[in-house]
Amino acid sequence: MRPTVLCFSGLDPSGGAGLQADIEAIGQSGAHAAIACTALTVQNSQQVYSFEATSRELLLAQAHAVVGDLPIRCVKSGMLGTTENIAALAEFLREHPEYHYVLDPVLVANSGGSLGDQATLVKAFAELIPLATVLTPNTVELRALTGEEDISKATAQLFAMGAQAVLVKGGHENTPDYIQNSLYVQGELVSETRCPRLDGEYHGSGCSLASFIAGRLALGDELKTAVHHAETWLFGVLKIAESPVVGGQKIPKRF
Ligand code: PLP
Repeated sequence: MRPTVLCFSGLDPSGGAGLQADIEAIGQSGAHAAIACTALTVQNSQQVYSFEATSRELLLAQAHAVVGDLPIRCVKSGMLGTTENIAALAEFLREHPEYHYVLDPVLVANSGGSLGDQATLVKAFAELIPLATVLTPNTVELRALTGEEDISKATAQLFAMGAQAVLVKGGHENTPDYIQNSLYVQGELVSETRCPRLDGEYHGSGCSLASFIAGRLALGDELKTAVHHAETWLFGVLKIAESPVVGGQKIPKRF
């Protein structure tokens, strides 16, 4: 049985983001994906309409059902939806300190739609931050999590909150020709990578990157190696992403 990543993530009916992105990315990384579903969202490639979160009991029951059943090596979280679900995940992670944990601090969809109440989610994320092997915020999430505008101060603030490693994703920064990602471990910059900026908007790029990293960690890669594998893979699947309707975000072609 392949090493398994247990994802705490929501369903996106378009198949671009959320748990489908996780399953596809983790499959491509070589690991197996298991899912504890946090929410059912109503959305397409253009906008989020609504969502209904899973109860804390049902979420934990899903996770507990696969512990001991599958060779879980890593947990990955995306949309959590409610502060109760964040607290439930923290409880689960404290029961399993042996798992790596990739925290993608999802607050809003790339289309701009709400995936939970931002102010309360931000506060609740403080409990998860010290439990993560790595956090993967984009710069919008980084600023929201810390209340700091300046990126290096905001990153330092995450380490002050107990983070062990942070991959800052630069896709939302004003760099028209390139996207720069920066990986920090224990507060130190350990690598910076740049790739050309592709045209258009992508649905599920953040989920895909975090999940591929989780898959590679589950398979035994060091963090820096896992991140580089994931960045290279993501660029390839975004280059061939498929456009749905005019005005919709492109959907990465993950296989
Ligand atoms: N999780 C779910 C269920 C979502 O619907 C979304 C965005 O729509 C995300 C996560 C985050 O997506 P992205 O990878 O585009 O940031």
